[in-house]
Amino acid sequence: MTNEELWRAVLSDLELQIPRPNFLTWLKSSRLVEKSDDVSLVALPNNFAKEWVELKYHKLILGCIRNLDGSTKKVEYVVEGSLVKKSSRRLPAVSPASGQLALEALRVDPATNLNPRYTLNSFVVGSFNELAYSAVSAVIEKVGVKYNPLFVYGGVGLGKTHLIQGAGNQIKNDYKDAVRVRYVTSEKFTSDVVWAIRNRRIDDMKKTYRDVDVLIIDDIQFIGGKEKTEEEFFHTFNALHETNKQIIISSDRPPKAIPTLEERLRSRFEGGIVVDISYPDYETRLAIINTKLQERASSLDDKIIDLIARKVQRNIREIEGILNKLVFYQSTYKRALDLGMAEKIIAEVVDQSASKTTPSQILKAVAGFFEISPNDLVGRQRNKEFVEPRQITMYLFREMLHMSYPDIASKVGKRDHTTAIYAYKKILENSVRDGDLNHKLLLIKETVNKPG
Ligand code: ADP
Ligand code: MG
Repeated sequence: MTNEELWRAVLSDLELQIPRPNFLTWLKSSRLVEKSDDVSLVALPNNFAKEWVELKYHKLILGCIRNLDGSTKKVEYVVEGSLVKKSSRRLPAVSPASGQLALEALRVDPATNLNPRYTLNSFVVGSFNELAYSAVSAVIEKVGVKYNPLFVYGGVGLGKTHLIQGAGNQIKNDYKDAVRVRYVTSEKFTSDVVWAIRNRRIDDMKKTYRDVDVLIIDDIQFIGGKEKTEEEFFHTFNALHETNKQIIISSDRPPKAIPTLEERLRSRFEGGIVVDISYPDYETRLAIINTKLQERASSLDDKIIDLIARKVQRNIREIEGILNKLVFYQSTYKRALDLGMAEKIIAEVVDQSASKTTPSQILKAVAGFFEISPNDLVGRQRNKEFVEPRQITMYLFREMLHMSYPDIASKVGKRDHTTAIYAYKKILENSVRDGDLNHKLLLIKETVNKPG
């Protein structure tokens, strides 16, 4: 039996024992990379998945492997990216089954965390993002000196990640090894801090983040409200800022609109330059569509291009999604699309994303995670095992949907809104200290956002 065959058999077993969303999220893209006499080495796509699988599924996995292969004594876990870095030549290429996402992720430069796909060359500039773009250009010219920090904010899918990663790639390109760049999402930063605290490796973590000339941190709004993480970030920020190291930050809203952000961090952010990205106008949307088509070496009828530009006004990611579908359709059927078909495809994408997160999605995700029924979350039973899931539900109602406390209470069948306040505070405070809880929250949020 090859490693691949063995692992496929293990996965089929696990699939029957783990709720579907959890299996898909955590185990689907895992693989068995090595099997020595008694140790099996399992690779997972990222650190988060690795820790989670170790924590929650290790016993189950060990049992399944032993059932199939009696010689196994131990199972160990590694992160796919770290493996590639250390021993890329020894390893076979990742199987296509692990999907495009994994391949994309593999292209990320492990030294900087930057994805080479995001370049400033492929970034279309219009009046909606001109200011942000010129601030970035100024920063690239005089790293650390001119605008520090640079704070870019704007709505979903409008190019924040593209722009700040593009800046990182450009700096790498212009300054080569003279300037060390590191990109990180604030979620990754948070989980690194939590991990470092738990494993008493704070000093290592500090070194990683302070040993750079340019620190790019994406989606900072997620850092707000997590005391220990904010504290660490504040010190990292100061250490870098004082030595004229460049900091580039993105957020979905301006500093003053992140309610949980500590005052001193907010004023630090506002001490640099704050620029926004708004919505592209029709002409710019046309330019973006044409650029994306060129990148894909394909073309579409002008009428269809006009249709996309009119229908999708507030999200460039959506424009890309539509283009991918249309181009795929054209090349599969080897004929130009007619307008009616294009309209249908566009409507599909636009409708899909119009649906917002709902309370019932949250209930479903929490229930799915704890393997209980959504009714247990809203019922009156006082069973101990429902306490934490209920508190998490209330916490997520508040955090993800900004519901009022009375609304939250009534949604979970409580009369008193102070129950909701208490639950929210408790989960918020505990998640700062408790790495496991923090992981649970991240996982559940992920399933809320990507159901199925
Ligand atoms: P955000 O981080 O603001 O949510 P992203 O940077 O992820 O948005 O952008 C979403 C998608 O749209 C990406 O694939 C990105 O390449 C593309 N995109 C966004 N803005 C532009 C632009 N100005 N020019 C070209 N592509 C863009
Ligand atoms: Mg982004």
